[in-house]
Amino acid sequence: AVRVRNLHRSFNENGGVLNGLDLDIASGEFVALIGRSGSGKSTLLRALAGLDRQVAGYGQIHVPDAVSVVFQDSRLLPWKRILDNIVFGLRAGDAVERGRRALAEVGLAGRGRAWPHELSGGEQQRASLARSLVREPALLLADEPFGALDALTRIRMHVLLRKLCAIHRPAVLLVTHDVDEAIVLADRVILLDGGVVRTDVRVDLPHRSQADPRFAELRTFLL
Ligand code: ATP
Ligand code: MG
Repeated sequence: AVRVRNLHRSFNENGGVLNGLDLDIASGEFVALIGRSGSGKSTLLRALAGLDRQVAGYGQIHVPDAVSVVFQDSRLLPWKRILDNIVFGLRAGDAVERGRRALAEVGLAGRGRAWPHELSGGEQQRASLARSLVREPALLLADEPFGALDALTRIRMHVLLRKLCAIHRPAVLLVTHDVDEAIVLADRVILLDGGVVRTDVRVDLPHRSQADPRFAELRTFLL
């Protein structure tokens, strides 16, 4: 689903943030992206999302037509009700029906007429997931989507995201600073360092063993 070759991106003369990065993600594959603060994770996601106009010409990026992004904050439009947020921009005649189904899938059935500010942080993130999934993306990009949530809500979101991914099967690239979150969710964990993919670890299913020494190494690296 994703093929990146030799991607470069810099913002000034003091060296690049992405320095010839290569990355492949198969369709339906769930990849977690970790790396120190400032290592370029969001820069890579923005490039893949097509939100970085200047990255063009500095490498090859192939992504599917349908790409959807979830950010750390929900970015719901405050002047639109939840259901209107979710179906915003959709043209299909059954958009509202699909929007309602997506809301039900994330456990927000019946909240479609609420305003964003009437939802809790976790509920807003679920609405933001519903907004992405109703677009049936072949690639879901998520930049620390659960970073602002408390521990219990985050675990609930993990369960929900895994369920949704099992149903919709998008390829996923999820940025997280939490190695345990990466192990719980992903098929592969990649470490971004020096502007390239420095480590690429396949998570052994079904064990998802957090005691695996390869992950201890990743944890140490992030300290
Ligand atoms: P974090 O974990 O803190 O979110 P990150 O890995 O997502 O970090 P990026 O946001 O990709 O890091 O930033 C990588 C580097 O590029 C940082 O040094 C940042 O200051 C720089 N950078 C990112 N966007 C811009 C921009 N628009 N203009 C100038 N510098 C930028
Ligand atoms: Mg970031």
